[in-house]
Amino acid sequence: MTLSDRQIERYSRQIIVPGFGGAAQERLLAARLAILADSNEVEPALSYFAGAGIGHITLVVPGERAAAAERAARIRDLNSDVVLAHAASVPAEIDLLFALVGGPESRAALDADSGRLRSGAMIVIRIDAPARIAVIPAGAGCPRCVGDALLDPPRARAEHAEFVAMVAAIEALKLLAGLAAANAAALIEFDGPAASARPLPVRNLIAAAAVCGCRRTAASASASR
Ligand SMILES: [Zn+2]
Repeated sequence: MTLSDRQIERYSRQIIVPGFGGAAQERLLAARLAILADSNEVEPALSYFAGAGIGHITLVVPGERAAAAERAARIRDLNSDVVLAHAASVPAEIDLLFALVGGPESRAALDADSGRLRSGAMIVIRIDAPARIAVIPAGAGCPRCVGDALLDPPRARAEHAEFVAMVAAIEALKLLAGLAAANAAALIEFDGPAASARPLPVRNLIAAAAVCGCRRTAASASASR
């Protein structure tokens, strides 16, 4: 796709960020993102991604009924380039699942749905304490394969939960814009606002996926395309 003059004007602040050009913005506008979050946590991430010009956003908000129409109208006003959908479960064919896990409903939905995602990458954000972010590439397992208590029952909300979610959103933008390696897996752990990242061995994730039952392996990902 090619950016219109209106789109260049709208996204000019991020297009002029070094390394972020028109091609990266075009990739964002073509990207398919799903956000899984509890209803009280979904808005900041949605506004951020819509403002950044992610073209296709599907919201999976467990237990929510009423807010969909109102939210769709608000996002249309914020950025008419964005196509917003609501779904009861994570779509199988997307580029990235952004899973913000802070309460029992989002945790249960992630547990139930993470095996459904065939082609895309996942960023799982635990915004309870201790906060952590797992970046899982396409074809390299699910949160259960990663371990590190990603699917444990949520504890108290982390003190810097909004900041952690923002760090994760930036990681998501870099992946979708093609500015980060698509095959890199990492766990980012927070001690307050201080973060340390360690790479996750993708080979181990793929081995775990083979026995996990999620079938999130490179073979199944490519077979579904
Ligand atoms: Zn798995």
